[in-house]
Amino acid sequence: MKKITVLLSATLLVACSEPKPMYLTVDEYPAPQAEICEMQYSPNQTQFQVWAPAADAVTLRLYAQGEGGEPEKAVQMSRCKEGLWSAQVKGDLLGRFYTFAIVQDSVAYDETPGIFAKAVGVNGQRGAIIRLADTDPEGWADDQRPALASTADAVIYEMHWRDISIADNSGIANKGKYLSLTEEAGIGRLKKLGVTHIHILPSYDYSTVDETRLDEPQYNWGYDPLNYNVPEGSYSTDPFNPLTRIREFKQMVMACHKAGIRVVLDVVYNHTVNVEGSNFHRTAPGYFHRKDSLGQWGNASGCSNETASERPMMRKFMLESVAYWMNEYHIDGFRFDLMGIHDIETMNQIAATTRAIDPQVLIYGEGWACNTPVLADSLCAMKAHAAQLDGIAVFSDELRDALRGPFWSDTQGAFLVGEAGHENDIRFGIEGGINGWAAQPQQLISYVSCHDDMCLVDRLRATKPGIKRAELIALHQLAQTAVFTSQGIPFIYAGEEVLRDKKGVHNTYNSPDSVNAIDWSRQEDYAPTLQYYSNLIAMRRHHKAFHMGDAELVRQHLHFLDSPSLTVAYQIDGTAVGDTWQQIIVVLNANKTAQTISIPAGTYTIAAKQGVLNEEGLGTIKGNTLRVAPQSAMIIFK
Ligand code: CA
Repeated sequence: MKKITVLLSATLLVACSEPKPMYLTVDEYPAPQAEICEMQYSPNQTQFQVWAPAADAVTLRLYAQGEGGEPEKAVQMSRCKEGLWSAQVKGDLLGRFYTFAIVQDSVAYDETPGIFAKAVGVNGQRGAIIRLADTDPEGWADDQRPALASTADAVIYEMHWRDISIADNSGIANKGKYLSLTEEAGIGRLKKLGVTHIHILPSYDYSTVDETRLDEPQYNWGYDPLNYNVPEGSYSTDPFNPLTRIREFKQMVMACHKAGIRVVLDVVYNHTVNVEGSNFHRTAPGYFHRKDSLGQWGNASGCSNETASERPMMRKFMLESVAYWMNEYHIDGFRFDLMGIHDIETMNQIAATTRAIDPQVLIYGEGWACNTPVLADSLCAMKAHAAQLDGIAVFSDELRDALRGPFWSDTQGAFLVGEAGHENDIRFGIEGGINGWAAQPQQLISYVSCHDDMCLVDRLRATKPGIKRAELIALHQLAQTAVFTSQGIPFIYAGEEVLRDKKGVHNTYNSPDSVNAIDWSRQEDYAPTLQYYSNLIAMRRHHKAFHMGDAELVRQHLHFLDSPSLTVAYQIDGTAVGDTWQQIIVVLNANKTAQTISIPAGTYTIAAKQGVLNEEGLGTIKGNTLRVAPQSAMIIFK
């Protein structure tokens, strides 16, 4: 082994020398008041800091490269107050890499870039010493969040970098990269579709994809977090250069903002890739992860560990992390994976912190966990406790399952395939869950499919074997008409607008591109459906009656009409919110036969019928009954 120069404390500008405190449990660890700043570069010296309250010794190692090679220097850090260790190293360290290595109770833990690295080398094993200002693309200072009057106005599009761009016919040059959305071929589709937000599947630095082998196709959704505050390297054009992923991520955000689209980050603070390999465990072993009463790691995530948001330092970490993404990357919202693992108090502090940066920030999450969390249920941010979650939205499995069938079976259908009995759950979703767990309608995320489980096409095929193209299209459009006329926030999975399929695969988290890629030739194959989607989205955005944003208004002005089995019919009084459509009637008919609904007498303009939607009108009807074609939605107004 090469000899390492150990800098003695004499070379340090400041050296603390606190004695090691005695802690009986991790709950006694102190949480620092100040913001975590593990690396602060200046041309003359760089300051390092790491929180490792129970460590016996911490060594800072400096490297020339992001991976491989021996350290150029090793520096013993000194113990300061509040569990922090610090070191200052003289000289210009720009472009170098660093790690922390702690020894605790005679165990030498593996090196880590710390918990709050803001730049890393390839595969995220070492922190990188950079100036963040060097990563700002031209025009970044002028970047602005697109206007959004209310979170109730949001329309969310969930996407993975490879899915949208990797196919030969995507027209995108930067395949699988952040930069895909800086190209007109990428961003143009989203503009045309009319969504207000993209929700990007995990794009912080995750573990599974080997960033040194990007010439080989590798696919992962990214629910295996490594460095929470650095963009994933495999989506950059050069993961070896720590500046590139940061700059390209910002270029992407700027391109979206220019197109009027906000960016939501999928965040997975609820678990780490594993315990031993996590930066949390390598700095404060046992603190950031929960243990059950038997001393086993909690497994609410289904990934063999769960984090402890209720502990002060984990809460502080999450708060600083979301604020950092908003301030440094101009991120506009967060989708919390398995939010039910987090505690309510932390989620509410996150809502308050992020709203102070942008009042229209969009915060939503999965109101459940994979397994029962170690934390008491009454404290967990589960869907049942949504009313205690300040303005935080939650996915509605009620609406989803009532349309497509239950989560526990891929082959069991529901409303869409003509199974009666789900109408009330659809009504629940249409009114935004306000007669259930939601305090306000925009607390409900309205959807029928997402990256999890089968996508809608595959689900329809699995629940209706032998389904023909025309019926598939009809039911697809019927499902999304329910989603997009719901008072909740509508959410679609990328590619659904062109009837994307995933070859029937239920869980495609690491399936090859051949399964996950969206085949964009479907834009032509399913042109009328694509048009239906963009018209549906435009109609929603133009008509506040579909997203009133207030539970009381919905209670007073949205009424369900009596209608036959396998139909849901409702009337909205648009005048209540100043809508130009004074009265709106929507009917969803999942029957294989036409149905007649009694409606208030009048002359109405038809906005949608038999799979065609046009806000300008498709003719008029007069009278007090409405005949709705089989397996279709009808929307009329006056
Ligand atoms: Ca990575």
